[in-house]
Amino acid sequence: MTRFEFMALAESLAAYYSAKTPGSKTIDLWFDMVQNIPAEALPWIEQKIYQEHDLLPRNLPKAIRELFEAWLQANPEKRAHKESVDCPDCEGGWLCLTRPVRGYKVPPTFSAPCGQCRRLRAGKYMTLSEAFAEGFKRQNLGAHTNAGARNVKTLAAQVGKEIPA
Ligand SMILES: [Zn+2]
Repeated sequence: MTRFEFMALAESLAAYYSAKTPGSKTIDLWFDMVQNIPAEALPWIEQKIYQEHDLLPRNLPKAIRELFEAWLQANPEKRAHKESVDCPDCEGGWLCLTRPVRGYKVPPTFSAPCGQCRRLRAGKYMTLSEAFAEGFKRQNLGAHTNAGARNVKTLAAQVGKEIPA
């Protein structure tokens, strides 16, 4: 969530409990504790606070974090969301690239964290169009062996064996 979204939540909670809106120093300290919580969980968390707390929780960030854990349990697919992004540009978060170099029969391959889905934690990302602008081509992993896409089980069974041509 953004600081603005957290501000809005703190203000409606204060209004509901007829309490004083926290000052900006307090908001800063609290926001540090909760900024990783996605904004989509906030309406649910807000309703839960109304249902479960007769008074505005004094340690509001703690209450929000606990409810966020409960929200994740109620919405398990949200936890898995990051892993299951279906990004058309990359393989599991990596751009698989190749750049033809003179003298190489099989051009060397490169990989870079994908700037489209940014599912990997990286200091620097590259998008496919940036890669193309620098002369890279996308490596077609499926076409490389003509074996087509193989699932993990098949792959495991083939370890140490020759890749089918
Ligand atoms: Zn991607």
